Amino acid sequence: MKLFDKVFKFNGGIRAETKKNISTAQPIRKIPLPKKIVLPLRQHIGKLAKLKVDIGDEVLKGQLIAEADGNVSAAIHASTSGKITAIEKRLIPHPSGLPDFCIEISPDGKDQWIEKKAIPWKKIGLDKVNELLLESGIVGLGGAAFPTHLKLNNSKKAGALNTLIVNAAECEPYITCDDMLMREKTHELIQGIKLVHEILNVKESVIGIEDNKTDAINFIQHAIKKEKNISLQIVPTIYPSGDAKRLIYLLKGIKIPKGRRSSDYGIQMFNVATILAIYRFIEFGEPSISRIVTITGNLKSPRNYELLFGTPLKEIIDDAGGQIIKNDTFIMGGPMMGFKLPSIDVPVTKAMNCIISSEPAMIEEKKPVLPCIRCARCAEACPVELQPQELFWFSKSKQLEKAEEYNLFDCIECGCCSYVCPSNIPLVQYYRFAKSEIIEERHEYEQANIARERNEFRLQRLEREKLERAERNALRRAQSSSEEKTKLIDEKRKAIADAMQRIEKEDDKND
Ligand code: SF4
Ligand code: SF4
Repeated sequence: MKLFDKVFKFNGGIRAETKKNISTAQPIRKIPLPKKIVLPLRQHIGKLAKLKVDIGDEVLKGQLIAEADGNVSAAIHASTSGKITAIEKRLIPHPSGLPDFCIEISPDGKDQWIEKKAIPWKKIGLDKVNELLLESGIVGLGGAAFPTHLKLNNSKKAGALNTLIVNAAECEPYITCDDMLMREKTHELIQGIKLVHEILNVKESVIGIEDNKTDAINFIQHAIKKEKNISLQIVPTIYPSGDAKRLIYLLKGIKIPKGRRSSDYGIQMFNVATILAIYRFIEFGEPSISRIVTITGNLKSPRNYELLFGTPLKEIIDDAGGQIIKNDTFIMGGPMMGFKLPSIDVPVTKAMNCIISSEPAMIEEKKPVLPCIRCARCAEACPVELQPQELFWFSKSKQLEKAEEYNLFDCIECGCCSYVCPSNIPLVQYYRFAKSEIIEERHEYEQANIARERNEFRLQRLEREKLERAERNALRRAQSSSEEKTKLIDEKRKAIADAMQRIEKEDDKND
């Protein structure tokens, strides 16, 4: 195949030093069952899952222990068999650094599964498949952790899907979990692609992969040789080609406008790990309980691990030989879009695709931030075609309306602008700050509106009560004055009657 023969190049992007080979030298490894499994109730985008167990309950591997709360949520399953020994707030791997509710399981060592049943998806129809996917706890495993059943739902609404795009670009430097999955689980992955292809009823499936994954490319090319409707499209290694909109443009030349979904254009996209999770659920009845995670950087033995959700990260870092140079700085995700972990005393979650122990080069003295020289390199690098330098000025000077006007919320926080900036300005940090300020302002405005509405309602109620009271008093007064009149008339009538009686008596006497 000729490289890039059908690729549409998007604007900007960068060729970052990738450092992927650090973690691909060894095969994917599993570690023994940990002593404790800690499963956060929030491992996804959306509402916290609802508890289905109590302390002391015995659970089996794959058993539902927290169900999705509504449509935008994801279920949590026991990743091994054992006893629930705690339900409390623990530190979780999240940028906020705040603790959240978790379920602790003390494994019984048997690792005993629930009764697993394949899903007869052809018989039960797409609605039921969707319902079951909601129960499966599968979320996008590329790092976004968006509940997968919602994508299938959108596909169904859109009706006319024609293309499944399999996101195998994995463009962040250092991350190799998808690469290793494609190398070691090629057959299962292709089975998964065929299954999702059939479920979505599309005409073609295209696997979009960067040209730096030569082993995976060879394995996949070999595996799809006889597949008529599945193709592999190699794209150049330019960050962020794994971003959904960038990959769709690279492969199809279609720009998905703001507020629209790819399904509106007949396209649905899943990451390779998500495809594999769907396959294991439909084919074997296995809910989402594990994933492949890249553990890399400043470690003695960096590699990829297949890990149960809830496994303590510290045990994995120890298994990888620990840090070469101690610095306690760990990043979750890639160096471009990831965040610093508050601690390594956190469990593996669905969104955890990579942990990087910071290398000396990554934590070297920060270069001094210099004034913006208006060189426009950031604009050239921006894949969303924004004007990062203008966004920087507006964010810095808190001209938030102007920042919104310049499409601040279209920024995907890819970090390309910061990467190329010769003045070392941490541009993305300014955008994140401005976004959070705007969200906070909106929240305050909404809260103020709610408070104003409540106050208006209270004043209306007080006014209404005052009027009702006045009406009641007037009625009472009217009633009492009419009673008074009647009493006076009765008294007068009685006085007349008495007088008449007296006159009649006087007359009788005189007769
Ligand atoms: S790259 Fe940096 S210095 Fe150049 S215009 Fe953008 S913000 Fe300014
Ligand atoms: S972080 Fe935002 S502004 Fe900067 S290059 Fe990426 S999309 Fe553009």
